[in-house]
Amino acid sequence: MKIVYSDALVVGGGLAGLRSAIGCRQLGLKTIVLSLIPVKRSHSAAAQGGMQASLGNATKARGDNEDIHFMDTVKGSDWGCDQKVARMFAATAPKAIRELASWGVPWNRVKAGEHSAIIKGQKETFQEDEEAHGLINARDFGGTKKWRACYTGDATGHSMLYAVANEAMRLGTEILDRKEMVAVIHYEGKCYGVVARDLVTGELIAFVSKGTLIATGGYGRIYKNTTNAVICDGVAAGAVLETGIVRLGNMEAVQFHPTPIVPSGILLTEGCRGDGGLLRDVDGHAFMADYEPEKRDLASRDVVSRRMLEHIKAGKGIKSPYGDHLWLDISILGAEHIHKNLRDVWEIAHCFNGIDLAQKGVYAPVRPMQHYSMGGIRTNARGETKLKGLFAAGEAACWDMHGFNRLGGNSVAEAVVAGMVVGDYFAEHCKNSQAEISTEVIQGFLDREQAKLEAIIQRENGENPFKLKAQMQELVEEYIGIFRTEEGLQKAVDGLEELCRRSKNISIHYKELSANPELEEAYRVQKMIKIALCVAKGALERKESRGAHSREDYPKRDDANWLKRTLAYWKNAEDTMPTLEYEELDIMEMEIAPAYRGYGPQGMIIENEKSAKRAQEIEEITQKLKEDGKNRWEIQDALMPFELQERYKARIERIGEPL
Ligand SMILES: Cc1cc2nc3c(=O)[nH]c(=O)nc-3n(C[C@H](O)[C@H](O)[C@H](O)COP(=O)(O)OP(=O)(O)OC[C@H]3O[C@@H](n4cnc5c(N)ncnc54)[C@H](O)[C@@H]3O)c2cc1C
Repeated sequence: MKIVYSDALVVGGGLAGLRSAIGCRQLGLKTIVLSLIPVKRSHSAAAQGGMQASLGNATKARGDNEDIHFMDTVKGSDWGCDQKVARMFAATAPKAIRELASWGVPWNRVKAGEHSAIIKGQKETFQEDEEAHGLINARDFGGTKKWRACYTGDATGHSMLYAVANEAMRLGTEILDRKEMVAVIHYEGKCYGVVARDLVTGELIAFVSKGTLIATGGYGRIYKNTTNAVICDGVAAGAVLETGIVRLGNMEAVQFHPTPIVPSGILLTEGCRGDGGLLRDVDGHAFMADYEPEKRDLASRDVVSRRMLEHIKAGKGIKSPYGDHLWLDISILGAEHIHKNLRDVWEIAHCFNGIDLAQKGVYAPVRPMQHYSMGGIRTNARGETKLKGLFAAGEAACWDMHGFNRLGGNSVAEAVVAGMVVGDYFAEHCKNSQAEISTEVIQGFLDREQAKLEAIIQRENGENPFKLKAQMQELVEEYIGIFRTEEGLQKAVDGLEELCRRSKNISIHYKELSANPELEEAYRVQKMIKIALCVAKGALERKESRGAHSREDYPKRDDANWLKRTLAYWKNAEDTMPTLEYEELDIMEMEIAPAYRGYGPQGMIIENEKSAKRAQEIEEITQKLKEDGKNRWEIQDALMPFELQERYKARIERIGEPL
């Protein structure tokens, strides 16, 4: 039996995991990070566009603050988020950017003088002030009120991840890659670490710890077409689900990005449209202005994706061997801008499609595909799950600042911010806890996992894991996409349940326990199907349209009946279907009462009577406190107090808003 002990165990070496590890090391804890792959190759590195934080430096960002960032986030979420968490996030994000700058992230900077940009299809000239010269710049991204997405060209995630990884390593974090978490070790309601499989030797190792934090990213690979890396398979979330205790939140909340390139699915960042790029149809017409006159190409992602499919359905798509698509035109930005700010985008199109996007009239073929997992391991505001000692952060979690649609630029921001906030709560937990667990219990978990692997190896003539996975991806792609119906979702649920049954009977050809990709596929697909079932069942039961969850048969957002979070769990090991329960969102505790988002079709809300009541209450409290001379922080506190470590809650200095 191999047991490795630590004070703090972090599973996942992306932005969220590594930033959490830093907090643990700052407290002097023996900290281990497990990862499937070398951590600098985590999916965070693929983020191109930007990180949202209300610095308010550039002219187009001036006047921004955490209140406006908070408001954009809540509206973006279609009121599905936990507003207290969104507040924790918006308050911390500017500190995260500055901390990253201090670790060497080469943020693009404001340059004083006259500039021009393409805004809503028109060239606009504006002035950057001397006092902002050299400060961190921002681009238009995510449909926000102010330009808030800080960026490093179009390699934002890359430079962030390298800086955070370097800092974690500098502080002495132990990083172990090619280790895959396959089970959670728990006993009497407490988590004691995980069982991980060494992907090279095949050995199962018990990583026992005072606290465990899961930061394993999204589950996009349950879809056939996705922008996600192949490692974003949701296997760790599947292992967490198999505890039978921890809940997964809003798994049906899946975001589709409007502009992955066809057919590879590699993302062309929203920064393309943020910088002024336009979506065009078969006639070359920039159609988004017809649907969304206010936000146009920069309406929220769920809205743009739906509009694109509507437009294709109206016969305005471009035919191709890979299905109909639309065009993304960045050539209007000019070669100089593209080669400076959108280098990766240019290279992707050049290498994978053989086209030069800087040439006038050359457009990228694009179509919406799965992109981001709003759902994940449900936690409270401190990042704790129902299993004591088990935390989650980043895209793997449903901390829930995204509700049913996360804003562009808010997720690398969440990964780092949750790494700070949740990571610090986690570190405190580890500092103040003990991991007293008998070796017998640990051995029990190792034996169970070993037996599962051996059963797969020993079985003859069972199901082929690759075929099961392909069938799962077909079902998910076909029926749990951008537009969903009762009939389609029922087919998905039935089909996936059948696959779940069949997945208990997998066999493989290559019979080795070590370095065996076929074996990996076998145990992974068993968990992936369970995750897909949580998505399908949650989507079937949610009889409304909210954010990215769009039901053709229930087109309205139903605040009267569905202002609640879906919680899925796996009651019994032999079940073939998750059990669902719901967590109500209390309107009377919200800082912003449910209302129209400001984009998308109007008149599509089934009102909750409490919304108007709370809106009026908010108005009265705000009015009264303003008359009493209270400032915006005091008013905010009266409307919706939220908990946050003092160092992150502290006010930040901005141009025009000195401390
Ligand atoms: C193409 C693309 C572009 C994006 N661009 C932007 C952007 O511009 N702005 C923005 O805000 N967001 C963007 N996002 C989203 C954002 O990048 C992610 O949400 C965020 O980086 C996730 O960080 P994370 O730390 O939670 O997870 P990840 O970076 O995905 O890291 C997950 C880690 O978990 C490990 N892991 C996974 N499973 C296991 C297991 N079973 N056992 C052990 N380890 C495991 C992996 O090895 C990895 O180290 C983009 C996403 C994509 C797909």
